[in-house]
Amino acid sequence: MENCVFCKIMAGEIPSARVYEDGEIVIFRDIEPKAKIHLLCVPREHFALLSEADDARAALLGRTLQKIGALAPQLGLADGYRLIINQGENAGQSVHHLHIHILGGQTLEWE
Ligand code: AMP
Repeated sequence: MENCVFCKIMAGEIPSARVYEDGEIVIFRDIEPKAKIHLLCVPREHFALLSEADDARAALLGRTLQKIGALAPQLGLADGYRLIINQGENAGQSVHHLHIHILGGQTLEWE
């Protein structure tokens, strides 16, 4: 997708600190970390919102969650982590390519 920063990262046009990639997803470090470890897990397929998830994308997202669970120890997240998906204006979504924030490496506040 033209002008999508995450598509550009995945195409190698913008540098990123990748920690994992396969045919379906890429995981790289957030450029403005909100926790000691702040990763972004991005499906290679461009779509912006959960409401655009058809059955194939729903299956992709299921596999993606399973992979995050399996990868957590090697990503330094063995002690726990938080997943966040910002959707739309009220959540402050700034990149309109669906992505999962992975936060960890420390105790996370929840208030
Ligand atoms: P969201 O507000 O959920 O759309 O989050 C977008 C995230 O992408 C923010 O946390 C940004 O810091 C992050 N981000 C934007 N550009 C880059 C980039 N070039 N490399 C890594 N992370 C980025």
